[in-house]
Amino acid sequence: MDEGAAASEQEEDVAHRQPEPDPPAPDETAEVSNYEIVSHWFDQAAERLDLRDDLAAVLRSSYREVQVQIPVKQSDGRVHVYHGYRVQHNGARGPYKGGIRFHPDVDLDEVRALAELMTWKTAIAEIPFGGAKGGVNVDPGQLETSEVQKIARSFMDKIEKVLGPQRDIPAPDVGTNAQTMAWLMDEYGKLHGHTPACVTGKPLELEGSHGREAATGRGVVCHFSEAAAELDVDPADCDFVVQGFGNVGSWIARILVEKGARMVGCADASGAIRNEKGIDVEALVEHSRENGRIEGFEGDAERCSAEELLATECDVVFPAALGGMIHRGNADILRCKLMVEGANSPTTPNADEILNGNGVHVVPDVMANAGGVIVSYFEWVQNLQHFRWEEDAVNHQLETMMRNAYRQVAEKANEDEVSLRLAAYQMGIERVLAAARTRGYVT
Ligand code: NAD
Repeated sequence: MDEGAAASEQEEDVAHRQPEPDPPAPDETAEVSNYEIVSHWFDQAAERLDLRDDLAAVLRSSYREVQVQIPVKQSDGRVHVYHGYRVQHNGARGPYKGGIRFHPDVDLDEVRALAELMTWKTAIAEIPFGGAKGGVNVDPGQLETSEVQKIARSFMDKIEKVLGPQRDIPAPDVGTNAQTMAWLMDEYGKLHGHTPACVTGKPLELEGSHGREAATGRGVVCHFSEAAAELDVDPADCDFVVQGFGNVGSWIARILVEKGARMVGCADASGAIRNEKGIDVEALVEHSRENGRIEGFEGDAERCSAEELLATECDVVFPAALGGMIHRGNADILRCKLMVEGANSPTTPNADEILNGNGVHVVPDVMANAGGVIVSYFEWVQNLQHFRWEEDAVNHQLETMMRNAYRQVAEKANEDEVSLRLAAYQMGIERVLAAARTRGYVT
């Protein structure tokens, strides 16, 4: 395998790559995949940019897609085969960067879409990384911790050749956390020597960064505050709903409640709850930490269906679970002024149109949830410098970068009279294309 720098890797790849077939139009009678969602927005932005077909083909397809088998011996002596993926989408702006997801639905199509989204996200946030994503089709909640550790280490053993601090740097995503990153770093270190900058989102005691765990939620709240200022919504006195109560959702809730807001509804994979007077977020975090789910919460809240949750009257809804969860079948029931996407690709294109038609202001994933990768960048910088920043410095720098990105995208959206999402995609594509041109592998 050619282990050259990102530019020559891209150059070599362009020569061999076949243009991708046109993606099918999203058919919302079936589930819409993350890939269809990202393809849709790329195509819309490319059309507005009048992007040449050959350049669109270069920017759409992945540089490298690695698929590995992870066989694990079970207690009954039989072997179960998991599948792991690492997709490096585009490295024109720097080393590949993106999370690793452990979820039973993970497949190449999903990882490919999430990797592409990372390319535009890092460009919009103006951090010097390309886009990547990884995943294993495993449900960590169904396994012993020792089995999850075995899978994480085995996955690292199989993909380490394409990783490294100057090549590709994983981070946590759905189903993985700081502990998973510690195992990955330890395994990488066995082969390459102690290399903390090989993954981000690590625990503090293993050269993680202050503020990384809360970073995605903090960034989402920052973009919510920017958008709220335009819509006469007060973040310190508003009602909000969170769909997904893992890392991203729970930190959005904690940060907003600290400001004085009320969480009037919340859901995770185990069910949904609501209370118009506000749910005790710290008690729910504690319950969720102990039980791995919000089900069984004994605080003041009533159970409700997923639809009832989305139909709750509130100022803002934060999707913070999986892709495609706001779709043509439920977008019309939302009763909020704003939706800020903590999750990746939570909204299908048809749902986006419905929300626009209903006057719901949408702040898209590709800008709103960049806080995680921004603080991952700070962690990487600290690791390379063998230095640690104070938490206040991390949070201050994060908020400055998030606000700058919001203002740049909002200004472009106003000028071009397009949605924030289209403006953001256009900005991301233009920046990646500029880097590719300057490197000299496209004209
Ligand atoms: P997580 O595993 O910590 O939490 C996921 C949450 O979603 C869990 O509470 C789970 O129960 C819930 N969920 C799953 N299926 C659901 C359903 N059908 N209905 C309601 N809830 C459901 O993952 P996370 O890191 O918080 O990531 C959440 C989303 O944010 C993902 O889309 C991820 O790609 C995106 N994201 C995460 C980060 C990060 O730094 N962790 C950064 C950017 C984007």
